[in-house]
Amino acid sequence: MDAAPGSTNPRDGSPLEPVTWTPAAEVAATIVAARDAQPAWAARPQRERNDALRAVAREILERRAEIAAIMSSETGRTPTDCIASEMVFVMDNIEGAIRVAEKALATEKVRLSALDFPGKKIVVEAVPRGVIGIIAPWNYPLANFYKSLWPALLAGNAVVMKPSEFTPRTGAWLAEAVRKYVPSGCVQLVQGAGDVGAALMPGVDGLVFTGSLATGRKIAERAGGLLVPCSVELGGKDAAIVLADCNFDRTVAGIVHWSLHNAGQDCASVERVYVENAIADKFIAAVAKTAAKVRTATEATGHAEMGPLQTPAQVAIVEAHIADAVAKGAKLLVGGQRTGTGLGFQATVLDGCTAEMRVMREETFGPVVAIQRVADAEEAIRLANDSDYGLCGSVWTTDTTKGEALARRLNVGVAMVNNHAFTGTMHETPWSGVRGTGHGVAMSAHAYGVFVRRRTLLVDKNSGPDAWWFPADANLDAFMDAASKKALGALGAIFTLLPLLMRRASTIKKFASE
Ligand code: NAD
Repeated sequence: MDAAPGSTNPRDGSPLEPVTWTPAAEVAATIVAARDAQPAWAARPQRERNDALRAVAREILERRAEIAAIMSSETGRTPTDCIASEMVFVMDNIEGAIRVAEKALATEKVRLSALDFPGKKIVVEAVPRGVIGIIAPWNYPLANFYKSLWPALLAGNAVVMKPSEFTPRTGAWLAEAVRKYVPSGCVQLVQGAGDVGAALMPGVDGLVFTGSLATGRKIAERAGGLLVPCSVELGGKDAAIVLADCNFDRTVAGIVHWSLHNAGQDCASVERVYVENAIADKFIAAVAKTAAKVRTATEATGHAEMGPLQTPAQVAIVEAHIADAVAKGAKLLVGGQRTGTGLGFQATVLDGCTAEMRVMREETFGPVVAIQRVADAEEAIRLANDSDYGLCGSVWTTDTTKGEALARRLNVGVAMVNNHAFTGTMHETPWSGVRGTGHGVAMSAHAYGVFVRRRTLLVDKNSGPDAWWFPADANLDAFMDAASKKALGALGAIFTLLPLLMRRASTIKKFASE
């Protein structure tokens, strides 16, 4: 199957309705339109913006069957899978985003320091940047928009959405749904491949990019040159460390789920499993048995846990990683084959993986549980941290005190004990990484650097001049001396400040009038 991007259903290769791509040369005009519409949206009270987005979330949930059908046709995943992973949580998601926004957008009152005097007020305000570009990947075509769309709009920005060329219809549906409640000019949509995404700069006032390391690097370089605030959230190669004292059944189920969810096409998939030798045989056998039961949508009729891979290029990567691992000595316990007529791929389990294998180093983004046996937790931590990426990492143990200590030693943005990727859609917590995962932060108040700039506002109600204004004279020396002593805490210095201040004020007045 080698069709144009987004033109066929990955489950069976059936053709989809064509989509009109936006000429790259027209992207600038959409940014202008968004900029024109933005002030009216920003002028609305926060409560109105909150309610508008609540209404969007309700709309998504109410029309879930409709959007799930569209998403299912573009991704090949079952509608149930689409609803379960991208829609069912949307009301909680928007409420979380609103709570975070209220904190992130609140005006900060600044407490003045020892040298400041009455009559001055300083506040730090959050000001929407203007137009935010949001470039999304295909792997969660709705949820990867929510994480940036909600805070961008809650902050009073307009947005230009750029869905992946592989999932354009889901992005278009979402843009339409939002436009019902947000002034339509504030929500622009551009469709196409990399050239259309690239055309967002120069132009936008902030950019959120979610996608591959290769593209993210280009975008971060360009944004750096143009001084456009930008967040890049890139790939992962997450490790899970399974200790001998783990809760066995939960750990087997958790590792299988987080390795194979969305057929492994998840930035926070468990891509490497390090299991202590003491339980390795039993654990790997149980993982293999469970994974063998996982059905792919291309071969199962009715319910299936996994959809197909999204693109032929993904299938080629997964096959290459498996072949490389087997050639270097890994044992293929389960799967390893394509399924059906589309891009389906069996749930796959590899035992005996080592750090030299591509499957343990490069992002696989496929339904592969790659397992390496280790002597102990120390070896596991060393191997887990030896990675080009660093999104999530997890430790599985019944000794949660030990688990916590080990999780803190993982060099990742999100560390977990006895779970993995759980916070991936929670607006209350930052989703971030290190190294090749990029410096971007999605969700939480920490993400707002892209969406708002901070304005410091000073209002001075004093009628006279400030004490240190010209001229320089002996009174100024005396004043500075007393003020320094006060700042250093010298007892009694405070009583000398007031008369000095008054003397200074009259000197300055004289200086100005002569
Ligand atoms: P990709 O980099 O190929 O494309 C992502 C988006 O960028 C698409 O919309 C694409 O059209 C656009 N694009 C491509 N070239 C561009 C350019 N030069 N300028 C601007 N835009 C450009 O990534 P993908 O294959 O769609 O997504 C998969 C990747 O996304 C994986 O690496 C995955 O780990 C990562 N991802 C990361 C997160 C996270 O939160 N860290 C979440 C989801 C996916």
